[in-house]
Amino acid sequence: MNTLTGIAAANGIAIAKAYHLVMPDLSYTNKTATDTDQEISRLDASLETSISELEKIKEHAKVTMGEAQAEIFSAHLLILQDPELIAPMKEKITNNNMSAEAALDEVVTEFVTIFENMDNAYMRERAADIKDVSSRVKAHLIGVDFPDPALIDEEVVVIAHDLTPSDTAQLDRKFVKGFATDIGGRTSHSAIMARSLDIPAVVGTQNISEEAHQNDMVIVDGLEGKVLVNPDDSTLETYRNKQTEYEAQRTEWAKLKDEPTFTADGEQVLLGANIGNPGDVDSALENGAEAIGLYRTEFLYMGRSEMPTEEEQYEAYKTVLEKMEGKPVVVRTLDIGGDKNLDYLELPEEMNPFLGFRAIRFCLENEDIFRPQLRALLRASAHGRLQIMFPMIATLDELKKAKALLAEEKKNLTEAGHSVSDDIEVGIMVEIPSTAVMAKQFAKEVDFFSIGTNDLIQYTMAADRMNQRVSYLYQPYNPAILTLVHNVIEAAHAEGKWVGMCGEMGGDPQAIPMLLGLGLDEFSMSATSILPARTQLLGLSKKEVASYTDKILAMSSAEEVVTFINSKTQKS
Ligand code: PEP
Ligand code: MG
Repeated sequence: MNTLTGIAAANGIAIAKAYHLVMPDLSYTNKTATDTDQEISRLDASLETSISELEKIKEHAKVTMGEAQAEIFSAHLLILQDPELIAPMKEKITNNNMSAEAALDEVVTEFVTIFENMDNAYMRERAADIKDVSSRVKAHLIGVDFPDPALIDEEVVVIAHDLTPSDTAQLDRKFVKGFATDIGGRTSHSAIMARSLDIPAVVGTQNISEEAHQNDMVIVDGLEGKVLVNPDDSTLETYRNKQTEYEAQRTEWAKLKDEPTFTADGEQVLLGANIGNPGDVDSALENGAEAIGLYRTEFLYMGRSEMPTEEEQYEAYKTVLEKMEGKPVVVRTLDIGGDKNLDYLELPEEMNPFLGFRAIRFCLENEDIFRPQLRALLRASAHGRLQIMFPMIATLDELKKAKALLAEEKKNLTEAGHSVSDDIEVGIMVEIPSTAVMAKQFAKEVDFFSIGTNDLIQYTMAADRMNQRVSYLYQPYNPAILTLVHNVIEAAHAEGKWVGMCGEMGGDPQAIPMLLGLGLDEFSMSATSILPARTQLLGLSKKEVASYTDKILAMSSAEEVVTFINSKTQKS
């Protein structure tokens, strides 16, 4: 048995066989073909297998990601059926006695070189597609497994060096019982998505992809951040019991599903869910969400080959608003950049992408992308209670520009006869220290704030949220962070505005008492954290936790704060 420690990224215990999501070694020994007909048959057979796999993946993607996102696989299928690509491979086999692998490699390299040197971004993108699909064909020729998360059809724990958000989006909850990765932090987007998919996960183990082999038995303990490879019988039994206990606790929490959220002393707060796509609303409601506190719209733009149209966006936003039946829905405008890229945009590489051209900075410079989103949102506003939120606001000027574009689009739509709600609230994410410090000035210009601690902590502590080596600096309880949160809440309340928190800290059981004491109005979190939070709040007195605020803000370290708050809340 081998035990690895990482970062607990999504709660729960998973026990299943390992599924290695790692690119196989595609090297081969180059031989001259003695039987060219046989080489051509091998090539045809590998193409056929690849085509039938891609068809299955496409069907699966249609269900899990929607028609538009599944279109990328149609493009891949076309490549494998393109005579302009396949015929030269066969010619090389026949005329030059090349092996099927070598012929495939040569032709692919020729095409990729031509496409990569074209001015047109779309064509350069096709080069990446050709490389991608040809790896699958080559794997079949060599006779090695090509990992396909979308085709998993038995219970597994996915093991990977890293999972991109789009890999994570392909995981089917029915079969993928858990996942463990070498790198990543609690607030990396794969971890956030694991929580919304309700899949136990441990990230940042450093070397699970080397320690666990295909089909090894693996336990993912997403409660304590441990991964156990090939556990002995008694360990397996201990973890099966732990799994049963956790399930029993969930049943207990579920009793509060349709209840409002009150503290022990009768104060009401709102518990919202963070979602990434319209399909997540069902799980949010099942988990007792009273609102959507953050809809990360960028996932609508990701894992596909072109921008979503205004119409497509309108449908997505309308679906969320309708499903929430008048409960508040905070939709965040496109927050691309950082660890979230759009393949079809071809943005230049940056030295520090999290400090770079992302979110509102990108949108204000790309009105052709931003305006359709604003229009889609405004049109959808007629179908529910919409609150629009701008991400990564650093200056009042950015906020004013974004608001002006919104007002302009609203005027255009109304003049064109569309119905647009008159009470859309407009707010901002507070995730950049300058904004938290200047909350007083911002509070006059917004209807609400939502504190994005994932970024606020990384920028305040100057610690990359994706880098586990500096994860010790991800300190939500550091008095510096609490002081900023306090400042934001005070400033908003002075102007009669409400404050939510949609960073991961908002659902952290250790932070909840402090946040309640600081006066936070809305807590937005992964759906599965809502019921535990409601249970916890029911046992907390707001008056009591508020009486500790001054003392906590004057403390010198996160450790001091945690020790103090634990001693107080364990007593109460
Ligand atoms: C945040 O920064 O806290 C946040 C909620 O946004 P994201 O995690 O998408 O950057
Ligand atoms: Mg953020």
